[in-house]
Amino acid sequence: MARFNTQLVHGANVEDNATGAVNPPIYNSSTFAFASVDDAPRWDYARSGNPTREFLEGQIAQLEHGVRGFAFASGLAAIHAALSLFEPGDRIVVGNNIYGGTYSQIHEYFDRWGLRFEAVDTQDPAKVEEALQGDGVPAKALYFETLTNPLLQVNDVHALAEIAHRYGAVVIVDNTFVTPYLQQPLDLGADVVLHSATKYLAGHSDVVAGLAVAGNDELAQRLYFAQNRLGGVLPPAESDAVRRGLQTLALRLDRQQDNARRVAEFLDENPLVASVRYPGLGDAAEQRLLEKGLHGAGGVLSFEVVPGVNPSVILNHLQVFRLAVSLGAVESLAELPCRMTHFEIPREERLKVGITDELIRLAIGIEDAEDLIEDLQQAFELSGEQFVQSASGADEVSPRQSRTPALQ
Ligand code: PLP
Repeated sequence: MARFNTQLVHGANVEDNATGAVNPPIYNSSTFAFASVDDAPRWDYARSGNPTREFLEGQIAQLEHGVRGFAFASGLAAIHAALSLFEPGDRIVVGNNIYGGTYSQIHEYFDRWGLRFEAVDTQDPAKVEEALQGDGVPAKALYFETLTNPLLQVNDVHALAEIAHRYGAVVIVDNTFVTPYLQQPLDLGADVVLHSATKYLAGHSDVVAGLAVAGNDELAQRLYFAQNRLGGVLPPAESDAVRRGLQTLALRLDRQQDNARRVAEFLDENPLVASVRYPGLGDAAEQRLLEKGLHGAGGVLSFEVVPGVNPSVILNHLQVFRLAVSLGAVESLAELPCRMTHFEIPREERLKVGITDELIRLAIGIEDAEDLIEDLQQAFELSGEQFVQSASGADEVSPRQSRTPALQ
């Protein structure tokens, strides 16, 4: 079988390309003709299946080592389909650091449908076990992000899946920040893998898409039913845009990780930075990541500025980084989670988890690292000037004296 990078470029065989076109065709048809009433075509209606979408679905199943893939109109549509597999009254244990939109879907949508969610610190296996066990009625599922948004906590898929399976829970992981290039969670025991393909997989900030991969046939059948009946499918042109993005995933991520590490090192030396969250920082990082089954730290990092520095001033002065939500694309983006990507989470809950008002998230692109660092440097200098002005006489501002990397 072809190796990973070859799978990225070629995907599965194209079965219906009589022209020799090197790219799979985009079938812009919502319906397909029957030869006769008794002779149905391979695809009949594009919500149920479309060859362009199926090409991508086959490719993500191959890359994630699953039995079947599903493409959705967004990452949240994929999460919706996965959570719709459960019944009112079912208990689902959820990592306490997740994307704000997922939090909102859970609490402003699925709560009303009678699913019962329990948030837990997935860095603490004993707490996860206690929550899964419950008061005699074990949870039906465990849901978490492999690398969390925006705190970059590394979740140990193998260890968590092992605990969940002891209680018969389905393990659903959001692998958006990691991608199959850095980890294939199904190999480590997960049952369903989800992606916001909007991010690294498509990679160019030009498409909104979601993917799900089932690790066994029973879950695949249920997910297919959810996809077809909820109907949030990915259209053919967008399916092809994700396929094209996938072809360069490894090249982009190699560069993004290299840049992210350099930016993290720069931030770690900056006296106006209180802590840096990037699991690829430090000499022992590679070993620590490998112990949790990860082959890299990805291209996203976050950091906190010291008290007294206004993070908005830094963000508003960036010129190469664009001030925007999303991540995983070729261009670098910066944002303030408490206002932009995690505002749905009540402040007191955000603070408990560690998503403070001073936390800035950077999604690193493939530019020259020097330009990214110089951009941050000039924004820090401007915010530093304000810092010095406001600090004169005040003692609530405190530049960091020594290096305090916040790594888990
Ligand atoms: N999961 C994670 C980790 C995300 O960061 C996001 C979006 O930022 C989503 C899911 C939702 O994906 P989408 O915006 O494609 O619906």
